[in-house]
Amino acid sequence: MERAIEQAWDALVDTARRTVTDGLVVGTSGNVSARVGDLVLVTPSGVPYDRLTPADTVAVDLDGTQLRGELAPTSELPMHLRIYRHTAARAVVHTHAVHATAVSTLVSEVPLIHYMAAALGGPVRVAPYALYGSDELAENMLRALDGRTGCLLRNHGTVTYGDSLDQAYDRTAQLEWMCRVWLAAGSVPGLSPSLLSPAELDEVAEKFRGYGQRR
Ligand code: 13P
Ligand code: ZN
Repeated sequence: MERAIEQAWDALVDTARRTVTDGLVVGTSGNVSARVGDLVLVTPSGVPYDRLTPADTVAVDLDGTQLRGELAPTSELPMHLRIYRHTAARAVVHTHAVHATAVSTLVSEVPLIHYMAAALGGPVRVAPYALYGSDELAENMLRALDGRTGCLLRNHGTVTYGDSLDQAYDRTAQLEWMCRVWLAAGSVPGLSPSLLSPAELDEVAEKFRGYGQRR
């Protein structure tokens, strides 16, 4: 168990640093978590990720009681814990990615501009705005996530989850990329982008089951 926690913390810190180096957040914005058994490892609130060492490991249980670490957990603990309580997620990534955040202020669902929406379970919803760190925001997010592995938070950013930190991170990157495509296509004067139908997206979801290398 100790070894698993150490490895998960290292991977979590790597993922949090990646959100900064890939430009998905600025400074200490955003947060990352990973589940190890009934323990949830989370980034601490307001601490630059490049300063984090193994000694800074922060862990809570599914009720939010802090079991490890001196640093206070992320202010978005309610969002992370909601996801672990209601899904089989092993990792959660929250960012303030530029294009996704811009799109969150324009629509209540990301238009079906690209088939990669199927990688997030379907058309990505925008959760209504609520104060950062609030239970209300966590509730709004959970509703927006129904049947999806990611959503936008209005005037705030992104949330995705997955079976691993890499998968959760990749979903954030895909979501940000898709929002960027929609903004780019929509910014050509006099033209508006063609969109996929729900049936076309269902077809992609079906084909995705056989995507990649056969095991
Ligand atoms: P924390 O530094 O508390 O994780 O908060 C960052 C954030 O993105 C809040 O929404
Ligand atoms: Zn945030």
